[in-house]
Amino acid sequence: MRNDVSFNLPGPPPVIAGTGLIALDVVIPTGPHSLPHLWAGGTCGNVLAALAFLGWDAYPIARLADDAASRQINQDLCRWGVRPDFLGVDAAGSTPVIVQHIHCTPGRATTHSFSRKCPSCGTRLPWYKPVRASDADGILARLPKPAVFFFDRTSPGAVYLARQAAEGGALVVFEPSASASEKDLRRAIETAHVVKYAEDRMGNLEGLAQEAAIPLLIETRGAEGLRYLSRLKGSRRGWVSSESLPARDVVDTAGCGDWCTAGIVAALGRSGRDAFLEVTPDRLRGAIRFGQALAAWNCEYEGARGGMYQSDFASFEESVRGLLEGDPGPTPPAPRTLQRHGSETGYACAECGESPAHPR
Ligand SMILES: [Zn+2]
Repeated sequence: MRNDVSFNLPGPPPVIAGTGLIALDVVIPTGPHSLPHLWAGGTCGNVLAALAFLGWDAYPIARLADDAASRQINQDLCRWGVRPDFLGVDAAGSTPVIVQHIHCTPGRATTHSFSRKCPSCGTRLPWYKPVRASDADGILARLPKPAVFFFDRTSPGAVYLARQAAEGGALVVFEPSASASEKDLRRAIETAHVVKYAEDRMGNLEGLAQEAAIPLLIETRGAEGLRYLSRLKGSRRGWVSSESLPARDVVDTAGCGDWCTAGIVAALGRSGRDAFLEVTPDRLRGAIRFGQALAAWNCEYEGARGGMYQSDFASFEESVRGLLEGDPGPTPPAPRTLQRHGSETGYACAECGESPAHPR
C-alpha cells in the first residue's frame, strides 16, 4: 500500500503542542574513545522533534531551569525548527538529564540502558517538574491553535492544557508513563482521543480505555510490534495486531516508540480531531504501518533521534518508503557511528563537576 500522505505536504504546516518529559539525553555510544552526544530527548521532546523533522510546527511546553542543560536542549531543538517559546526557563524549574549507555555485543544484540545518576559520583541528576496549572492560561493565550496536543505525564497543568486544546478541536494524544497513579491516569485518559502505551511498563489499559470510550488505544509490544483497539467508524471489534517492520540493521532501539507515535500523529492528526474521527480502517492501518516504518528506520541509528543527525530528509523518505513496500534496501554502510557536532559544549554534573561526556 502506498502511503504518501504523511511526508511534507503543501499548505501551512500543522501545529503540534505538547508537554511532558523534555530532557537532555547524554548518549554514550559504544567504543572506548566514543564521545557522548548531547541531544534533546524525553518522550515529549523526541515526538515533537520528530514531527518538526516531518514538517510540523512543534511547540513543546516545559518548565526547565535556567542552566547549561536547558541551553543544550534549546539549541538542539532549534536546530530542527522546534519552537522554543514555551520551554519556560525559570528559577524554580528543573531540567531533566538522562544518561543513555549503548551496549554493543559481538552477536549484534545491541541494546541500551538509561540512568538518572551521574556516572562519576552517583548523584541523582535533575528530574522533571510539570508545567503549573496557574501558568496554563498564559501559555494558551500565546499558543497557535494546535491540530494535535501530545502529553506523556499526568499533572493538573498537562490535563488542563489537553482539555483546552480538545475544546479548540485538537486531537489529543496521551502516552502514559508508569509513574502515574490510577486516579491521575484515569483523568488523563478521559481527556485523550488516542492513548498509546507500552504493555511491559503499563500492563493492559483496556479496561480504563473502555470506560473512557477512547477512540484509539495502541499497545506496543517491543520487537514484536503492536496491537490496536479502534472505536472509529467501520472498525472491527477487538484488537488488531500489526507486526513490526524488519529493519535493515538494528543498532539501537531507543526512541523507536517515539518515532512510531510521531508517524501515527503525522498520518492521522494533521487536520485535528474531527478529521481523525472520520478516518477509515484502511487509513488507520496505513498510519500504524507508517509509524512502524519510522520506528524501524530509527533503530538503525544510535540514540533516540540519531538518524536525524546522520541522514538527510531525502534518504529518510526513501528508506521509509522502502520499508513500507517491504523492500528496505541494502544494509546501510557500516559503521553507523555518528559525527559529533561543533555546537556541543559539554555537560557537567552540578555535584562533582565531572562530565559524563568524557569516559574514564
Ligand atoms: Zn557527579
